[in-house]
Amino acid sequence: LAKPFAFVTAFLCTKGMTAQLKFSKEFLPLMKKSQRSLLFEFAPTHQNVKHEIELLGIPHTSIGHLWLNDEEVDFYYRPEPGDIIEVEGPTLPIDVTTPTWLQPVAYPAYRFLVDICVGALTPKLRMMGCDVLADPSLHDRDLAIVSYEEQRVLLTRDRRLLMRKEVEWGHFVAATNPHQQLQEVIHRFAIPWLPEAFLRCMSCNGWIVPVAKKDILDQLEPKTRLHYNDFSQCENCKKIYWEGSHYHRMRSGVPTGP
Ligand SMILES: [Zn+2]
Repeated sequence: LAKPFAFVTAFLCTKGMTAQLKFSKEFLPLMKKSQRSLLFEFAPTHQNVKHEIELLGIPHTSIGHLWLNDEEVDFYYRPEPGDIIEVEGPTLPIDVTTPTWLQPVAYPAYRFLVDICVGALTPKLRMMGCDVLADPSLHDRDLAIVSYEEQRVLLTRDRRLLMRKEVEWGHFVAATNPHQQLQEVIHRFAIPWLPEAFLRCMSCNGWIVPVAKKDILDQLEPKTRLHYNDFSQCENCKKIYWEGSHYHRMRSGVPTGP
């Protein structure tokens, strides 16, 4: 199919009937290997610009600005012959609590929905105080719907999932190493050091509250019982935390707080 298509496009191009998408450099890693070009020429149909871009494998959540003759257009603009549309990534860091031209719905807080393929992010973001939902029983369609309904930023390595129409704010996590994944997400979204840091259960997202040692004595290992006196417990799943189990281990995985 590729050759006749290229021939038709070349024909339309000479007739001035094509439009162009010009991508900024940051999109190169997201391009399909067969299309590693920053300039893409196509024959406009009745489809909008979002559809044309996603045909190239780039989810709309990766796009920050669309320029046509120095004016910003939105995802629903239908390209016309002769258009040159410049596609740029978002201005970093992204503040999801502020609406943008392409994402007019602002979210009330830094809440995330983490796909299982980047599941290592879940405890780290919770430790930083973020409200993180991670449910392995949720699959593509449900993830997209929950992201929309609960206004959670969807984090995944599945770009097809990010292309679903329900997804407003999301991010294709490029890194595969968990430590780098966290750095990438923090860099992209400028997650502040929230007052809730160290107050969320890394296992279940519940709240951690102080608990008297005598009330949990029977649940402690002998060495923990001997060496530690200050304990907290998750209100939801009852997991017990103490300095040695929580703070030091997690501190090593995230940037230094204030
Ligand atoms: Zn818990």
